[in-house]
Amino acid sequence: MSVFKPARRWQPAFYPFKKEKLSKRILAKTELWIKGPLFGCRMCGNCLLQETAFICPMECPKGMRNGPCGGITPEKNCYVDETRKCVWYAIYQRALKTGREETLLEILPPLDWNRVGTDTWGDVVRQIRKVGTGKFISGVLSNDKEKKNKIWDSVFKTIRQPEWWKGDRDYHQALSCEPVSDLEKRLRAGEFIVATEVTPPTGAGTDKLIRDIELVKPFVTAINFTDSSSARPKMSSIACCKVAIDQKAEPVFQIAARDTTRTGMQSAVIGMNAVGIKNILCVTGDNPITGSLPTSSMNFVDIDSVQMLWILRRMRDEGIYLDGRNIRNSPKMFIGAATSPFSSDPVLQAIKDHKKINAGAQFFQTNLIFEPESLDLWLEQLDKRNVLNKVFILVGVAPLKSYKLAQYLHTKVPGVSLPEKILKRMEKAGESAPEEGVQIVLEVIDSVKRKQGINGIHIMTLSWESIVQRIVTESGLG
Ligand code: SF4
Repeated sequence: MSVFKPARRWQPAFYPFKKEKLSKRILAKTELWIKGPLFGCRMCGNCLLQETAFICPMECPKGMRNGPCGGITPEKNCYVDETRKCVWYAIYQRALKTGREETLLEILPPLDWNRVGTDTWGDVVRQIRKVGTGKFISGVLSNDKEKKNKIWDSVFKTIRQPEWWKGDRDYHQALSCEPVSDLEKRLRAGEFIVATEVTPPTGAGTDKLIRDIELVKPFVTAINFTDSSSARPKMSSIACCKVAIDQKAEPVFQIAARDTTRTGMQSAVIGMNAVGIKNILCVTGDNPITGSLPTSSMNFVDIDSVQMLWILRRMRDEGIYLDGRNIRNSPKMFIGAATSPFSSDPVLQAIKDHKKINAGAQFFQTNLIFEPESLDLWLEQLDKRNVLNKVFILVGVAPLKSYKLAQYLHTKVPGVSLPEKILKRMEKAGESAPEEGVQIVLEVIDSVKRKQGINGIHIMTLSWESIVQRIVTESGLG
């Protein structure tokens, strides 16, 4: 247990993969003995402490380096281990208290695994020498805030933002003005659109998948295929997308950081483009603790969703892979991200979403919304940050078929919580629960379609694909 950090360390500190020189090993040990108790440092060798309010983000079991995931519990604890506070919630709280919340916007890189377990202090000393020790000390002691920040960044930003990453806090508009998919075209044209989700099959047969696609296709602009949702294996999203293309439907390829690496993601994106998939939705993915047994690694993802967006945007707009190689035919993509407006608190969530928009998100699909009036605060925050007009927002809705399903979503699905009044309505409905579930969805749609900044809805069918036609028709979105 450390002195200043809010939670106990998730896992022991890293060790280097290769044997380092004795002097480096001694330096690394000294760094660990000091930074471990103070900040919960795990010796990732890629230190970000200045940007994370001096709380080590490596305490997060998902290894998130760019903000919280959508799974914080109502008590602000981590859903992977509810006995501890969400480390990112603590980082945000401290940053807000110290007025440093804008520093949280900087897009931070994934780990360079060749450096884990090694010291960062050696790099700091070398960089200070490069800048000039006297100049650095006088800058840090200066009363001029701008001068102080500049000299600080000249040392620490160089270390935390390697050449291969070059993350910043700025918004990067997509270079091409030409829409690459029907979804993008319609959203840009100002249409209020409907997207939906078809559940991927658990077997290798595609008959039911094709039937479901045919069932929803006439009523929606695009169809999402989840990537092993709830960490349970099913047919891959990319295969379902290809089946959809063969059926002349427009797919949205979902890719979860949980099951991929930086290499795997870049290859998947080139492949998806080659077979005609143009919409992609980046999610971090539910932790394996929510999935099937035996539980696979709960510890780390190689890249988080913000990093995915940053890499994809650069592949498309700058035509480069993460390693700097040029891509001859760069992929054309409409890039999206998921958001949970109520998972932590709308003010904090807006910071994370601002970061995603800066990184490259062009559209958002929200988590399930049952209380549309609560969206206003989040939308206000996005507007205040001047990013509401830089992203298309599709509100997630789901027809509840039963009270049992409502309870399951409320208690078991990370980031989803149903208001008491909705749970009561579903319980009271008894045998008419499916009808009540549809009415709730229609009410939500009626409310959100009048909200400024909302550009459509995303119907998560929860395996009830046949209801899409009715929802679209009765909500007047046909
Ligand atoms: S809730 Fe999510 S972001 Fe927070 S510590 Fe747990 S896994 Fe990390």
